[in-house]
Amino acid sequence: MRYYIVSKGDHKSNSIKENMEAQMEANNMIKDADEPEIVISVGGDGTLLEAFHQYCHRVNETAFVGVHTGHLGFYADWLPHEVDKLIEEIADGDYEVIQYPLIDIIVNYNDDKEPSHHIALNEATMKTEDNTTLVADVNLRGQHFERFRGDGLCISTPSGSTAYNKALGGALIHPSLRAIQLTEIASINNRVFRTVGSPIVMPEHHYCLITPVDQRVIMTSIDHVTTKHHNVESIEYRVAKQRVRFARFRPFPFWKRVHDSFISDGRDE
Ligand code: NAD
Repeated sequence: MRYYIVSKGDHKSNSIKENMEAQMEANNMIKDADEPEIVISVGGDGTLLEAFHQYCHRVNETAFVGVHTGHLGFYADWLPHEVDKLIEEIADGDYEVIQYPLIDIIVNYNDDKEPSHHIALNEATMKTEDNTTLVADVNLRGQHFERFRGDGLCISTPSGSTAYNKALGGALIHPSLRAIQLTEIASINNRVFRTVGSPIVMPEHHYCLITPVDQRVIMTSIDHVTTKHHNVESIEYRVAKQRVRFARFRPFPFWKRVHDSFISDGRDE
């Protein structure tokens, strides 16, 4: 088994990482930063997002698992005191792989620059560079849908629906559904300007094309990374062909994770 561990970088996460590496070596597992079959993140959900982006070029070959050193994460759902058991199960190869949808993002430019391709595990957002109102035409599956005015737009995956999307009033979507969700970030709605106002969920064969009107410098955030793009013509979002693979060593159903993260973790029940 070839593995790699990505740490958040703080003292606690680094020492868990070192301890795990020693145990994994003792179990004849090979540390391989280039072609790991399993990538373990130690930290929080943000660390798992980083690990995903570090290895998203090999999503078909690598499975992810997250250990949390802070509060329970959505992706990082193993506790530090459980890592011995986790290593044992990895050594036995005794795990199931579950797959969740991703978003494929293409930024098209109106100069000679080639379109840039990106992939998101949680969400992709689109805003202006100086927090002014984003004015953009929203096109769904080749048809003009609305002219949006507001702070920005957020397109999320089902597993990302519990992250930024949730704070925007989006729906929580079970990751077995291959879909993307478009959510407004503070739209302007009055007698003159109108948007639909509700989150929109699109199936895998649909796509969403957003064309800024008279604004060419656009800030995108893809998971934890924000980038400034010049001369943007449009940005296209669709359900990606690839899916992320998570190694599951025990059942932890999605709705149970939602319950434990947002309602109660059982300590006060
Ligand atoms: P971070 O690691 O501090 O994450 C921020 C919070 O989002 C953490 O509490 C984390 O556990 C939680 N989170 C991340 N993915 C989640 C998921 N799929 N479901 C439920 N909770 C999740 O910060 P970061 O490293 O910058 O992480 C980037 C993520 O932060 C983005 O992908 C975005 O979803 C989230 N975010 C949330 C808000 C908000 O809720 N208002 C605003 C900005 C960004």
